[in-house]
Amino acid sequence: PNQIFGRARRNSAGVDLSDPLVREPLLERLAVLDARTYEAKPTEESSGEHPIRRITSPHDDRIEIGIAHEATDNVIDRAMMAAAAAQPAWDALGGEARADLLDRVADLFEEERDSFFSLCMREAGKTLPDAVLEVREAVDFLRYYAAEARAKFSGAVPLPGPTGELNELRLHGRGVWTCISPWNFPLAIFVGPVAAALAAGNAVMAKPAEQTPLIGAKAVELMHRAGIPHAIVQLMPGDGRVGAALTSHPLTAGVAFTGSTDTARLIARSLAERTEGPIIPLVAETGGQNAMIVDSSALPEQVTRDVVASSFQSAGQRCSALRVLFIQDDVADEMIRMIAGAMEALSIGDPRALTTDVGPVIDAAARQALRRHLDWLDHHARLIMRRDIPDDLAHGFFVPPAMYEVDSLGQLTQENFGPILHVVRWKAGQLDKVVAEINRTGYGLTLGLQSRIDTTRDYVERHARVGNLYVNRNQIGAVVESQPFGGEGLSGTGPKAGGPHYVARFATERVTCIDT
Ligand code: GLU
Repeated sequence: PNQIFGRARRNSAGVDLSDPLVREPLLERLAVLDARTYEAKPTEESSGEHPIRRITSPHDDRIEIGIAHEATDNVIDRAMMAAAAAQPAWDALGGEARADLLDRVADLFEEERDSFFSLCMREAGKTLPDAVLEVREAVDFLRYYAAEARAKFSGAVPLPGPTGELNELRLHGRGVWTCISPWNFPLAIFVGPVAAALAAGNAVMAKPAEQTPLIGAKAVELMHRAGIPHAIVQLMPGDGRVGAALTSHPLTAGVAFTGSTDTARLIARSLAERTEGPIIPLVAETGGQNAMIVDSSALPEQVTRDVVASSFQSAGQRCSALRVLFIQDDVADEMIRMIAGAMEALSIGDPRALTTDVGPVIDAAARQALRRHLDWLDHHARLIMRRDIPDDLAHGFFVPPAMYEVDSLGQLTQENFGPILHVVRWKAGQLDKVVAEINRTGYGLTLGLQSRIDTTRDYVERHARVGNLYVNRNQIGAVVESQPFGGEGLSGTGPKAGGPHYVARFATERVTCIDT
């Protein structure tokens, strides 16, 4: 079999919400879990004073679902020392034994998935179908990176060649990784980098987003229950201050960050300015200004369905989400009308209701930034469609799904992380200009293409500088191993999450050469 890709392994099956015999009992169990409250604490016990954060639901900020105890500098320091001391034994355990533990974590995640569904809805404002996908992805990351550990970290890899010596490559952990995760995939992208770092033989300081520490706490609890030592994976709840203390700590040996491009630059700068400790690798997955190109050969119903999913599922809070739709002008009026019609049918509301298509955005700051952008659009763009927020949602952070027409992509100076779609018309024969305009943003995450013309697809494939190109489908929901995910340029450093080069980036390579 293929050395890199060829192992037998299956992604998880998820939950079939269309089957009432599955769905109805699940909804009943979730109703019970709705009353539960949670607590997130640093794994390293803290004795003195530490800041506490109340965690509330994005769809109704009167609902308190738990509290997070933030890590102080003292806790971080002690945790780092314990992790650094424990890491060599974890590395020496080998890929096979670490993989068994990660598989065990995946099993526990599946056993406890109701709690994760509930937390994803209540803490992160996810709809149930999104929560189901989130848990699946987390489980898939665990099992895929476990398989990677077995394949690549279980012993020496003999190196062929003409030197007449015995040459061997071994992969080892680098030390303690700091993994800083985003709130938009509070389980999957919390677990993904942590699992990869663990698979590679590292200890991990796992910092969940300040908005979603409770999901992170549950994930780390299950990692410990599976048998991963407490010193090896440590929860570090807190805000950017905690992130900065971790990344600048002399014992940090690597940083994995998912979040904004600006924060990634700040982290890169702070790593560059370190005067103590090793030179630190950074794996950053950041934002996008993702486009979809539609030409006149595209099927209107399909475009409509895929645009609505790409822009409004997860309330547009995916870094893969569609932001700028380029429609060829001879079909633009019809397509825009159909998309607006489909937007009219979106149900906005409490994410726990199965009928909800668009839930809240994560917090007041996100809502305010998006409202500011809508104000800007009101003055600089043409409104096509904007939904109203139902009155009974006044206590939640809801942003109206909206579609505006702009003259060019260049008018948009930043990523707008929510349910707002921008439309640009383009003329037949100008595909090269459209692709150049998309490349000029400097981002390179996802790109959608709706076209039945092979030469158009060839052109876009050759010239678009993006990590993930989706043809005649929506552009969200990359699948672990089948669709490794991640961008280039302003969108991140690579390697791709869920891809064959990811785990190795968390490791160091050592070669032994023996004269036989
Ligand atoms: N992997 C997700 C997707 O393909 C996006 C990840 C993110 O938003 O950070 O939709």
